[in-house]
Amino acid sequence: MKFDIVTIFPRMVEAGLAEGVVSRGIERGILSVQVHDLRTYTTDRHRTVDDVPYGGGPGMVMKPEPLARAVEDITQRRGTPTSVILLSPQGRRFDHAEAVRMSALPHVVLLCGRYEGIDERVRTGVATDELSIGDFVLSGGELAALVVVDAISRHLPGVVGDARSVAEDSFSRGLLDYPHYTRPSEFAGGQVPDVLLSGHHEDVRRWRKMASLRRTLERRPDLMNIASLDDEGRAMLDEIRNEQERKS
Ligand code: SAM
Repeated sequence: MKFDIVTIFPRMVEAGLAEGVVSRGIERGILSVQVHDLRTYTTDRHRTVDDVPYGGGPGMVMKPEPLARAVEDITQRRGTPTSVILLSPQGRRFDHAEAVRMSALPHVVLLCGRYEGIDERVRTGVATDELSIGDFVLSGGELAALVVVDAISRHLPGVVGDARSVAEDSFSRGLLDYPHYTRPSEFAGGQVPDVLLSGHHEDVRRWRKMASLRRTLERRPDLMNIASLDDEGRAMLDEIRNEQERKS
């Protein structure tokens, strides 16, 4: 899968791509990520990427021409992208389902804003989509772009060492992940549940499924409405609810 990231802070993005799972995906040739310095698409001596807002008011606005030129150049050198995404707090919310859907796209361009944001005509005339990573405002789209690349990359076969990790992660089955433990078996007064030390695979599987359901019900009951449970899952859920009723 190809990603092209357009930013005024290329080193910030490159640093985030240089370690961990994403860098392994790049080394293995599963991912091709190019970072483009927006200033190379300016035409004036000062390499200007921003200007004052029409109508007045605080801050600066990112000019449309350098961004449009960047996308044209990427198209010529790397092929027509499937999606040109504007990172913006006003965009559609990026979530697990979106990460899975986008992992099937061959080529995604990510445009990082700064200042007050990007001239509106980039949204209407250059971008094909607008994504937000949450209801808060970042100072720039660079961290958002790294979040999007990381979350999508995990769904590309071969990027995460063991595919079972991704399949069992929170949201994959519509539920939160179960709690994890490693050695030592006792720490800070907390014991690892006996079942995980038992070596009994079927008991461990059942405990984890139950823990996953319990945790989702406690922390994110909204997810329970959309989780698709099998017969065993539904029976476990009844058991947990009965347990909770008995306690209350
Ligand atoms: N004035 C804009 C607004 O209120 O909608 C916020 C601009 S913000 C300071 C600068 C840039 O950071 C945005 O253009 C966008 O690229 C990025 N950004 C900020 N918050 C974001 C979020 N939640 N998701 C994705 N990108 C975000």
